[in-house]
Amino acid sequence: MRKSWLSAPRFGTSSRAVGCYGCAVTPDPEELARADKAHLWHPFTPMRAWCADDHEPLALVAGKGCTLRDQHGREYLDGNSSIWTNIHGHNHPTINAAIREQLDRVAHSSFLGFTNPPAIQLAKELVELFPGEKLSRVFYSDDGSTAIEVAVRMALQYWRQNGRPERDVIVAFDRAYHGDTLGAASLGGIPLFHKSAQQLGYEVIRVPDLDALRRIDDAQSNRIAAVIIEPLIQGAAGMRLWPSGMLRSLDEWSRAADVFLILDEVMTGFGRTGKMFACEHEGVVPDFIALAKGLTGGYLPLAATLTTERVFDGFLGDGNTFFYGHSYCGNQLGCAAALASLRVFREEQVMEGLAAKISLFAELLGELNELPQVIDIRQCGLIAAIEIEGHGVKVCLAARKHGLLTRPILNSIILMPPLCVTTQELGTMIAATRTAITEVCGDIRHSSL
Ligand SMILES: *Cc1c(COP(=O)(O)O)cnc(C)c1O
Repeated sequence: MRKSWLSAPRFGTSSRAVGCYGCAVTPDPEELARADKAHLWHPFTPMRAWCADDHEPLALVAGKGCTLRDQHGREYLDGNSSIWTNIHGHNHPTINAAIREQLDRVAHSSFLGFTNPPAIQLAKELVELFPGEKLSRVFYSDDGSTAIEVAVRMALQYWRQNGRPERDVIVAFDRAYHGDTLGAASLGGIPLFHKSAQQLGYEVIRVPDLDALRRIDDAQSNRIAAVIIEPLIQGAAGMRLWPSGMLRSLDEWSRAADVFLILDEVMTGFGRTGKMFACEHEGVVPDFIALAKGLTGGYLPLAATLTTERVFDGFLGDGNTFFYGHSYCGNQLGCAAALASLRVFREEQVMEGLAAKISLFAELLGELNELPQVIDIRQCGLIAAIEIEGHGVKVCLAARKHGLLTRPILNSIILMPPLCVTTQELGTMIAATRTAITEVCGDIRHSSL
């Protein structure tokens, strides 16, 4: 048997304590780095640089609230909510307890031919989060990409079997991002992400804005089954804000054309924008909404596609069944975590406390805007992009040394703290960003003189 922490009798019996986190262990950092480089392949990662001798991967071993701890015991603020997922902080007692409680009953059972209590309860609570009774049906899947695939497949199949088979095209916006699976990636408008998936799926018309959509000629527009958008703000495009009122106008256009409106709230859902869902800002209730990342509070992979009774009814006829699903649909642990996250929203009055944090965030970002290296700052609720002249990656690496974890999108530094962020933590995140920008960009300017 190999002697390493991997084969240790129990992961957690070493003497390396992590103090206040109450959890027993951290494995040997050198062994971690060696084993990672020997066996892992990371997402969106140039692996030659990752595996280089002078690169030590950051291994995160514990967390509490907005703080994460690495293999050396160093602590960081989670500046991008662990890639846009975490909502109420790490190690939240309510969510932890709910997962444990469910674990003692059963972790997972099939949703194909069976049902389960937490999935039923969650569906009820999700549809109640939207006004009116338009969104009444919940289809579970695993992540943002699959939630989008579900919406697109349902939209296409609906028209095929309900008298409009010529409607076989989905409209998406330039620079959109809807996920990485082939079907979801076909919708994307960011060349780096979608080029490998291009032309492999169904037909997509890509438009820059609403005016361009309105200009599509009749022959083409008769073929549109649905239009999909990230409401208010395009995330992976670098936090690009849509003009105010755009979503409402798009909703009006889709209703007039009787084309389905699909909202991708995978990033914007669950409070990020200052309201529970971005569509609330413009009083829109779509035909489909895709929820994922924050659904479980950022604890477990679970996604939901919500749709209307009209769409549901279109699948009731003989031979019209929606033949689609994944092994872990309706996963009981995930649904229990999501229910607990919604309970935290209620018990801790999370939404009520957001406005003050968002205006403080705006104020602090305003101060950053005075730095000569900052070109533009875009903010929507607790989501912000600080665009600088260059060196986005270097600035984020420098910010790490000052206790802040985040990733850039090109040269935009993303700040998207968990909703539980304190005013003090917001201040620390901004200060670390400022120091990192002046260190990296200041130095580079200087040395180029
Ligand atoms: C992250 C994201 C997705 C994809 O979600 P995954 O869980 O990564 O598959 C889709 N749409 C938006 C807007 C996202 O931010």
